[in-house]
This record gives sequence, structure tokens and C-alpha cells, in this order.
Amino acid sequence: MENMSPTVLKKIEDLKKEIKILKEENTKTKRNLTWKVRKLEKDKVLIENEKMRLEREAKSLRGEIERFRSPPLVIATVTEVLEDGRVVVKSSTGPNFVIGYSRFLNKKDLEPGVRVALNQQTFSIVNILPSEKDPLVMGMEVEEKPNVSYEQIGGLEEQLVEIKETVELPLKKPELFTNVGIEPPKGVLLYGPPGTGKTLLAKAVAHETNATFIKIVASEFVRKYIGEGARLVRGVFELAKEKAPSIIFIDEIDAIAAKRLKSSTSGDREVQRTLMQLLAEMDGFEARGDVGLVAATNRPDILDPALLRPGRFDRFIEVPVPNEDGRMEILKIHTRNMSLDEEVDLKLIASLTEGASGADLKAMCTEAGMFAIREERSTVTVTDFMDAIDKIIGIEHEEDMRREAGVMFG
Ligand code: ATP
Repeated sequence: MENMSPTVLKKIEDLKKEIKILKEENTKTKRNLTWKVRKLEKDKVLIENEKMRLEREAKSLRGEIERFRSPPLVIATVTEVLEDGRVVVKSSTGPNFVIGYSRFLNKKDLEPGVRVALNQQTFSIVNILPSEKDPLVMGMEVEEKPNVSYEQIGGLEEQLVEIKETVELPLKKPELFTNVGIEPPKGVLLYGPPGTGKTLLAKAVAHETNATFIKIVASEFVRKYIGEGARLVRGVFELAKEKAPSIIFIDEIDAIAAKRLKSSTSGDREVQRTLMQLLAEMDGFEARGDVGLVAATNRPDILDPALLRPGRFDRFIEVPVPNEDGRMEILKIHTRNMSLDEEVDLKLIASLTEGASGADLKAMCTEAGMFAIREERSTVTVTDFMDAIDKIIGIEHEEDMRREAGVMFG
């Protein structure tokens, strides 16, 4: 190198620089290409997923088309099963038929009184329909004497007194009202934020009065059973009378009882028909009878005034988010069967859970228990509760809570 002329040396230097630049460019291009390949691979996965999704949708749409193409079935009720294997049915259109049935059906299920579907052309039985009063079909939850007692409700003493007076007493001692000559309220409306114990209150009354608890969720009613709402409302009242004493609990009543709006889509009209049926049932209903009516909503402000008139839902009970004492009561209830470390101070936990509902507090206790189980401990500690508060009650007040907990626990 030393013997080389400066021009040659310069050339070598230039070449080296050039090689360096090319190398750098090469690395850059390589990086770009790798990035592009990765992106394309990702796109490929996305496209494949999309393809699968579309295939699924196409399949379900094909099924839907098939359903549209299949002719309607005629509803009938079995009146007699003949010895030769044929069945006598009374069709919903009027006439009686002697017909056969699909070999896929179980003969044992074909009893007098069972509802069946008939093929429109051949009139043979193709399907056995669920009973009209099947609670599952009607989207109801039915519980004979639910096992929720008043002791399992925390922080709602006033509400308990009111509900006892308005729902329990007319069911248990209707004569008290007759003697005094007043009508007890027909329906009681519980209103307040979610998870504050409205369902619990209604269940507890059913328990204390040995009544059947029949719950319907109005929003599901409207969504699932288009065109059926009014019939189902009638069914609910019929079932309640059959199973009396009973408590009908209508959750999310705002879904069928929101103020009537000007717009009238077919959906709105359907909702209105359901509400009208509910009002009609309430009007023809004996307040001192053996069916209690309780409804719940988070939105009392949007309810149709027709529903709140005297003789309908005319008693309102607010079920608010619990205050500190209420939270303490609820915590006591939900930790009753938990083995707690002796340092756990429920009063402190109650003070740290401002804004939590009963449902939040219950979830928090369960979560604290889960933390202990994960660490294979059999007692639940203060730390488990603190972690559960973070997880369930959210991080809104996290800073405050940590600070306070820090002060209190040193
Ligand atoms: P939603 O409006 O969402 O239907 P809700 O007000 O009916 O809510 P519930 O279903 O009664 O609330 O409460 C859910 C659960 O939370 C209950 O099963 C119970 O375990 C717990 N809980 C709520 N409030 C209380 C309370 N006051 N005392 C004890 N437990 C409660």
C-alpha cells in the first residue's frame, strides 16, 4: 500500500466507500423486503380469515334461503292416537284429520294434547312443537320458592320495609286491606342502577311468601319474539295464575314501556302491542289476589306515563347504589362463608369501594377468593382484597385507594 500512488489509494478509498454505501442500501432493501413479506403474510392471514367468515356467512344465508323456500307448516293438536299407528289431529284451521307422521318422530311423544306441525300438502306430522306454556320457549325464568331470604340482602332496609308492605302483605294477608277498605298497589316499580339488588328483592319476597318467581326480561322478549310479545304477556299472566301464589318480575321494563314516540316502525308498533297487552292484563287483575307484580328499570325517566297511572305500577321504590354502611352489610353477607385472614377489615374495604354496586362487591369477594386459590392459600388476605378492588372496581380511584390503604396499613 505504501508504494501505491496517491491516485490509486484514492480510488481504493472511493471503492471502499461505494461498497459501504451499497452494503447499507442492501441491508435497507433487505429490511424493507422482509417487512413487506411480513405484511403480505399478515394480509394473507387476514384475507384467509375473511374468506372463512364469508364462507360461513354464505352457508348461513343459504340455510336462510332454504328456510324461506320451505312451505309454511300447519299447526294442529293431537286428539287421539289410533291403534294402527295413525293419529287424529285437530288443525288450527278447523277440520280434523286422520294422518300419519314422520318416521323420525318418536311415537311416544305423540299424546293427546301435544301441539304438532303438519306438512301443508300431505298433512302428515313433521314436527312436535313445544307446549305453548313452556317457560323456556317463552323466555321466562321460573323458580318455585327461590332460596333468597331477606337476610341475604344488605343495605336495603327501607326498601325491604316498602316491598314487604306493598307486595308481601297483599299476598299474605289480603283481608287487612279488605277490612280497611283500600286497594293495595297492583304493581311495584323498582328503579336504580344495575346490580343493586332489584332482582334479589323480588326473589326474596317470593321466598318469604312461598310463591313461584316468574321472571321475564322485557328487552329479550321484544328482540326474540317478534310478533309474539302480546301473546307471551298473556301467557305469563296465565302461568302466574296457574302457579299462584306467584310473583311476576319484569326486568328492563323500559324495553316495552318507553314513552310512545311519533315514529312508528313495525318494531315500535310491536313493542306498543306488547305494552297494551301488559296494561290490559294489569287492568283485569285483582290486586288482592295471589299474584304479585314487580318491575325493574334503570331508566324510570323514559317510562310511558300510562304504565305509572294509579291502578298500574303506582308504587315506586328506589334501589340506589349502596352507601358505606350498605357496602359494609353487603360485604358481611358475601364474606359470611369465606375464611378471612384476621387482618381483613371489612369496614376499610367498604370505605375504599365508593360507587360499587352489590353485584360489584360480590364479584370483588369472589375475585379476592380466587387470588388466594391461585396462590394455594386457604385464607383470604388484605392484599387479595386490594388486588380484587383494583381488578373489579376499576382503576378510576386506584391512586386514592392505594394512598389511603398505604396510610392505614402503614
Ligand atoms: P339489573 O338491573 O342488572 O338486573 P339488579 O339490580 O336486579 O340488576 P341483582 O341481579 O339483584 O341486581 O344483583 C346481582 C347480584 O349482586 C345478586 O345476585 C347479589 O349476589 C348481588 N347483590 C346486589 N345487591 C345486593 C345487596 N343489596 N345485598 C347483597 N347482595 C347483592
